[in-house]
Amino acid sequence: MKLREHMQIERRTVKHLFSLSKRCCLSTAAGSVVTSLMPYVPIYFSARLIDALAAGEGIEVLALYASLTVGLVALLSLLNSWITVQYELGSKEQDRGLNWVYAEKAMGMSYASIEDREVSLLRERIKYETQTGFNEYCLIYYSRLLVGYVVQMAASVSLSISFFTLSTIPLWQKLAFVGVVIATVLVNILLTSKRSKTINAFYSKCVDLNLIDEKFFSYVDDYRSGKDIRLYGLAWSLAEFDLGKQMSIWRQEAKMELKCLGLKLLDTLVNYGLQLGVYIILIAAALGGGVSVGSIARYASCVLLLLTAAAGAATAIQSLLVNDQYLKRYFEYLDIPNPMYQGSLTVVKRDDNEYYIEFRDVSFRYPNTENYALRHVNLKFRVGEKLAVVGMNGSGKTTFIKLLCRMYDPTEGEICLNGVDIRKYDYDEYMALFSIVFQDFQLMAFSLGQNVSASAAYDRTRAEECLERAGFDGRLSDMPKGLDTVLYQHFDREGVEISGGEAQKVALARALYKDAPFIILDEPTAALDPVSEYEVYSKFDQIAGDKTAVYISHRLASCRFCSEILVFDSGNIVQRGSHDELMADESGKYHALWNAQAQYYSREAG
Ligand code: ADP
Repeated sequence: MKLREHMQIERRTVKHLFSLSKRCCLSTAAGSVVTSLMPYVPIYFSARLIDALAAGEGIEVLALYASLTVGLVALLSLLNSWITVQYELGSKEQDRGLNWVYAEKAMGMSYASIEDREVSLLRERIKYETQTGFNEYCLIYYSRLLVGYVVQMAASVSLSISFFTLSTIPLWQKLAFVGVVIATVLVNILLTSKRSKTINAFYSKCVDLNLIDEKFFSYVDDYRSGKDIRLYGLAWSLAEFDLGKQMSIWRQEAKMELKCLGLKLLDTLVNYGLQLGVYIILIAAALGGGVSVGSIARYASCVLLLLTAAAGAATAIQSLLVNDQYLKRYFEYLDIPNPMYQGSLTVVKRDDNEYYIEFRDVSFRYPNTENYALRHVNLKFRVGEKLAVVGMNGSGKTTFIKLLCRMYDPTEGEICLNGVDIRKYDYDEYMALFSIVFQDFQLMAFSLGQNVSASAAYDRTRAEECLERAGFDGRLSDMPKGLDTVLYQHFDREGVEISGGEAQKVALARALYKDAPFIILDEPTAALDPVSEYEVYSKFDQIAGDKTAVYISHRLASCRFCSEILVFDSGNIVQRGSHDELMADESGKYHALWNAQAQYYSREAG
């Protein structure tokens, strides 16, 4: 990475941290300066005191130095306490902001990115790296140290610079002094860079293993997997699998720690060796005379602090440089674009719901896959049409809906709304046209009414009406707090567990509450009992009202009531027509599917 890139990354991070909490950034820097300056007050005044004693100064001078030492240290301590309080307050602000970054990014991403395995690996990786102290936290930590070390170095140099002006000290001693400082910095740079490389290589290997471990705990913790784990005795095989992966991490970590320990030992030995060198030079200078006793003490303290600070600064700079590689990855994730938001055209609100959708030779492949999930799909919806989409599993029905709702954009061809490519419309306005119930819909652990309305404040009468239309009215009257009953017990001990079929009805009510011109139901009766299923499709016209409705199912009987049926096979629309028209074609896919299912039902009935 070039220096310019390092600068850009660090500038961006600091700007980001400032935007999260100015208080935290300023108090971090101020705290660092004050703590670094504190040891120099007694060093400076003690030297003055020793020299004053040696010179036989009066009690007033001695008392002045003593009270200045204590007074200044007390003042700096008080200042530091106030800064610490500011830092504590600011760091909470900053932590909240940093945690929110992930949620905000995930919510603002296109659905395609959310489903993309590479993106989720990247997200997990940077999350893991942040938790282990890289990214912003690393920059904060080492910048704070660096500021402190720089202050310490400046203070040490200014208090020991007179060493070089003393004519009584030979040149070789002065050069040796400088040489020791340079050697300390170089050794640190070398050893720290080796250590960072070892740690970096270990963390890169860990990411996949940690993802597996996290998944293991999500299975173990989640009550939904509890039944299968118990019934199929999965506990031990899961534990064995996870333990195997854990052992692999531990082994690699132990190796990495051992290597780092070796490097640290070497570093410590060299540093103390160099410090010994400084003492020898100073003792030689003292023996040679021409340096006061107080100055010798001051030089010794300052130079040792200078060496520690120089070594620390070298480590901090190295760590910051290494961390820039992590930050680069972090920003790569934050910068993943959302192509859905490129369009800006307004979707004209039409009271007559005259919206036409057309698929023009649309083909689609999921990212990183070879096979087409949809191939050359051509289709026009008429307004108010009740369209059924049928086909075997994997034939492309859900993908068709995902494209219609702009979860993905077509690989080839275009989808048009009233003749204009849907990519040109404002994304949020376009999305507002659709109410969808996906097979894998998700309800949240909020109140029933909030789930139906998808908002905190809502129209209660309308929510009740929608629940009634979705066939949930009977269950609603049993709910202890009606619309205010909280679903599930994640956030509320009095939350109510509802069955899969009941949840599906609530999801349907949510789609009705949105009152969008298009209503799309993906296998909406899969979890319903036969009576509720019959209710949904016999009342489907009434449920959908004047909206354009798309009804997806692999159960052909439940689609019979639709005026128009699309038959999907291997990503293509192979037939289109009413039930009677499709049945008339005895060589067609629909006829074959119908007969296969009828046979199955009649055999079951018999
Ligand atoms: P259906 O809804 O008819 O059961 P889908 O539209 O879900 O079928 O799937 C069509 C094809 O696309 C299948 O071969 C399926 O494996 C593939 N597919 C679905 N979702 C993804 C995905 N996220 N990534 C890759 N392939 C997918």
